[in-house]
Amino acid sequence: MDLMEFQGKDLFRAHGIPTTPQGQIATTPEQAEALATEYGVPVMVKAQVLTGGRGKAGGVKYCPDAAAAKAAAEAILGLDIKGHVVHKVLVEKASDIGEEYYLSILHDRVSKGYKAICSVEGGVEIEEVNRTQPDKVAKVDINPVDGMSEELANQILDQGAMPTDTRDQQVALLMKLYDGFVASDATLFEINPLIKTEDGRIIALDSKVSLDDNALFRHEDLAALEGPVPDDQQGDDLEARAKDKGLQYVKLDGDIGIMGNGAGLVMSTLDVVSQAGGEAANFLDAGGGASAESMAEGIAFVLGDPAVKVMLINIFGGITRCDDVANGVLGAMEMLGDVEQKLVVRLDGNSAEEGRRILEGANNPKIVPASQMIEAAEKAVALAKEA
Ligand code: GDP
Ligand code: MG
Repeated sequence: MDLMEFQGKDLFRAHGIPTTPQGQIATTPEQAEALATEYGVPVMVKAQVLTGGRGKAGGVKYCPDAAAAKAAAEAILGLDIKGHVVHKVLVEKASDIGEEYYLSILHDRVSKGYKAICSVEGGVEIEEVNRTQPDKVAKVDINPVDGMSEELANQILDQGAMPTDTRDQQVALLMKLYDGFVASDATLFEINPLIKTEDGRIIALDSKVSLDDNALFRHEDLAALEGPVPDDQQGDDLEARAKDKGLQYVKLDGDIGIMGNGAGLVMSTLDVVSQAGGEAANFLDAGGGASAESMAEGIAFVLGDPAVKVMLINIFGGITRCDDVANGVLGAMEMLGDVEQKLVVRLDGNSAEEGRRILEGANNPKIVPASQMIEAAEKAVALAKEA
């Protein structure tokens, strides 16, 4: 479970991590204007969506007066940031930025422990800093049994080339960040940027928090947090609708819609699409069934995302027979009527040849059959480039 910035900052504050002054959510321009008047300007108006790079996409605006806050909210609400539509903005008092740093703690599956990442170069993508100035990015393993110490905190901050004049504040913040991360059963606590204000305070200007879903039962308050779409407006939001129907649907940033049967196959499909040079727009795990209705529902879901230029269906027939799937796909195309995008359909396993014959026999120019995964991914990537 990912938290929006304002929820992450609330969690930071609850663990004593200094942040920007407490703000509030607005869902209308008038609310943003009223909050700006209440807080006193300048304020920031910031899109609350579960994706990064909001600043670059025009989702973060500095507002010198209340009218500007209203205008900013007008511009940002409804904005599509990498496929995430903005339904909420955070209004908070603007901070005077002196310097921007980067600091995070995360689960590291390779070392089976935690890792701290720290850099004096923040505010930009850390991957980019890591490419261009790797000597300024600390990547330090933390043994969960030993935990954090002042000594280790200093080591992390030194390796990140962090300045020494505000070191006491940095150490205190990092120790609290670690404690909060562990206490929340988080997989990521990221601050980008961590800033030094003009008056010399070290605070979190942004937050990115991911929590371990398997531990959410221990955090009722966090599990109950509202998503990026207000609970009473979820009708048009695909992820929320999928969740309601018990479907495993996840929105991503590319242009190829993916459906497969089984989580492992779906993950492999994402890898193969990336190997073929493409990027997934979303993915849906169709699970076991392959009736025309369930295929139609899954296909409609994936195609319901306007970012999808081509869809890739990857089915491995185990108990599910591929000829049933093929008939399901054809039935789905009939039910859906005018489908704009092409569907690359890869069938393998139980009755795959029969399935492919059925698809080929249908002579539907929108359906492109494939037998190999990489072949299917390459076809999908090429079609997405043409579309
Ligand atoms: P992101 O683009 O999604 O990572 O959003 P951030 O919250 O990190 O904000 C992006 C950028 O907006 C920051 O790096 C700052 O340069 C700027 N920004 C955000 N909040 C403030 C603020 O309170 N004051 C000032 N001056 N700039 C801000
Ligand atoms: Mg940021």
